[in-house]
Amino acid sequence: MKPDFPISSLKGIGPKTEELFHLIGVCTVGDILLYFPRDYERYPQICDPDTFVPEQKNAVFARAPKSPSVHVRSHLKTAVLDVSGENRTIRILWFRAPYICSVVKAGGFYVFYGKVTEKDGRYYMEQPEILPRESYEAAQKTLRPIYGLTKGLSNKLVIRTVEAALADIPLEMEYLPEDVRVRNSLCEYNYALKNIHLPADEASCITARNRLVFDEFFFFILCMQLTRDQSMVLKNEFTMIQPGMQRADDADFVASLTEKLPYPLTGAQQRTIRQIQEDMRSEHVMQRLIQGDVGSGKTIVAFLAMLDCANSGYQSAIMAPTDVLARQHAQRLTELTQRLELSYPVILLTGSLTARERREAYTALEREKSALIVGTHALIQDKVTYNRLALVITDEQHRFGVKQREAFFRKGPHPHIIVMSATPIPRTLAIILYGDMDISVIDEVPAKRRPIRNCVVDTSFREKAYRFIENQVREGHQAYVICPLVEETEHSEGENVLDYVKRLRKVFPDEIRVAGLHGRMKAEEKNQIMEAFLENRIQVLVSTTVIEVGVDVANATVMMIENAEKFGLAQLHQLRGRVGRGDAQSYCIFMQGTAQEGENARLAVLNKSNDGFFIAGEDLKLRGPGDFFGIRQSGEFRFRLADIYQDAGLMEKASREAAQLLREDPGLTDPSHRALRERLRVYAGEDFSLLNL
Ligand code: ADP
Ligand code: MG
Repeated sequence: MKPDFPISSLKGIGPKTEELFHLIGVCTVGDILLYFPRDYERYPQICDPDTFVPEQKNAVFARAPKSPSVHVRSHLKTAVLDVSGENRTIRILWFRAPYICSVVKAGGFYVFYGKVTEKDGRYYMEQPEILPRESYEAAQKTLRPIYGLTKGLSNKLVIRTVEAALADIPLEMEYLPEDVRVRNSLCEYNYALKNIHLPADEASCITARNRLVFDEFFFFILCMQLTRDQSMVLKNEFTMIQPGMQRADDADFVASLTEKLPYPLTGAQQRTIRQIQEDMRSEHVMQRLIQGDVGSGKTIVAFLAMLDCANSGYQSAIMAPTDVLARQHAQRLTELTQRLELSYPVILLTGSLTARERREAYTALEREKSALIVGTHALIQDKVTYNRLALVITDEQHRFGVKQREAFFRKGPHPHIIVMSATPIPRTLAIILYGDMDISVIDEVPAKRRPIRNCVVDTSFREKAYRFIENQVREGHQAYVICPLVEETEHSEGENVLDYVKRLRKVFPDEIRVAGLHGRMKAEEKNQIMEAFLENRIQVLVSTTVIEVGVDVANATVMMIENAEKFGLAQLHQLRGRVGRGDAQSYCIFMQGTAQEGENARLAVLNKSNDGFFIAGEDLKLRGPGDFFGIRQSGEFRFRLADIYQDAGLMEKASREAAQLLREDPGLTDPSHRALRERLRVYAGEDFSLLNL
């Protein structure tokens, strides 16, 4: 068996199951090994039919009075068994599993491990696992992995498949140099792989995770360093000076624009714009990260840089992660040029354009020299050609990947690059993660702005909240309501957008317009709704987190988040960032659906502070050791396991080791680094050819 064999080559994986695995992105045996658990579960203490706790998972130790009987209803064979204590009885059901009858013997004692639910005063347990007591007690020392699933694919099946893959694959060769492992107390790769999936105990799980997190950082940093050497020395092909002007004078153009803005720029905004201007006039291609908390005003900085390019006769482009955000940028940019009485064309390019609009956009891109271009990923498709594209900006995007950068590079002489990020990262870490970039930090919020007022409440507060929203709307403002789900589902609990819209339409008088927005809508529909909200034709927008990034409607003053306990702190902070963008006082209502202990503490952090840095720090403190598995995807960075805050120490180690390695063996040609090089090839995938090796 080899890692690139299809998953179906493992025992027990038929075509149907294989399809399910494809749905979660697992195609090969190697893939399943890298499909890490998203969490772990501890096996609960053993209880009996009199002492179990309803509505949670229990390990009920009981005697089977007889073998299960099989009930047939519309061809569905269900094995049924009642187990009883002195006072209570649990009815246990196994669907489509008549074979259970031969597993559970009359008079035998078993641990039934599963969730007990209560319905009409009776207790049920569906599809529990059945174990002899000794096996269960042995399992209790271990952690049970929980995998991301899809409908039809059970956790148990994933576990069994992982076990099969681990047993079948000849052990991978260690690829990290021995001295690196020893210096950083890292376990062997094979041990890590086994124990991240099926940890012998908690300590092995942590050891395993440390190794894999180190690797993630290490390869990430290596890839970055190995592309950087090329790009750092790239010569600036664009002279950002108007003909006949002295270097000293031409910056006056941007300065003259800032005078005409409706607000004075903050000191941090001014400083950042100056840095960009200097970069674009230097000998080398600019690569700059602009970091600033939500609402710090990054967009105007980007726009001014684009106008600077236009003024010199060059194109510039800003790329946003969503259609909605791209359209909003295009609209704002158009308004800005009008206000500043500039005639540079604004060109929008997104996936939702009609064929005709797209053709027109393509033609304009080829023709218009000073175009201000706004779009989504559509901007880097092969079909698109530019004319003197001098600056590309990505907004709210995960790190501008090597591939995308390369795609833009191929579209003409190397453009300058700006990446804008709202992820609050301490400077020392930013230097590592954005090692190939210069960093500007916008660490000031516009002075006039009033801090958002927060409150954390439970659902009994809803009526009050609705009245509050109604009053805000009567004063001319708008509101967001966020729900975790799009529609009602069996599998997850929580408010959903579709039903919520209906509810609010009943709650509010007709003149208050309520609309829903979610990711499953067609792009066109989303755009229409967002546009209507921008123009205040809709007053209350009920949405999923699709509006999490970037959307800017200064007139919105209320953000109400249903089931706030279901979101991560960083995400809640982003959501809250949608209000408090104008002069009016804004409010954020964190509504707790089901209050569980610990969650209060997290929401209390948000309640206390509007500062992204502070929140990230507190988030970390609230997590105890062993509490860190799969809690947060570091949004922008797409690491599988690593968390840039939690694992800052490992990141620094990985950074040191990567630097030393490249100092000693810049081309990774030393025979002792052969395995490492191969591993890098796997990690980098298609990007490997772009590395400077
Ligand atoms: P973000 O950094 O989150 O992308 P935006 O660029 O969207 O923030 O800016 C948030 C809001 O603040 C916008 O409505 C913008 O017009 C406004 N804004 C930006 N800079 C200033 C400033 N210096 N003074 C007042 N308002 C500003
Ligand atoms: Mg923004």
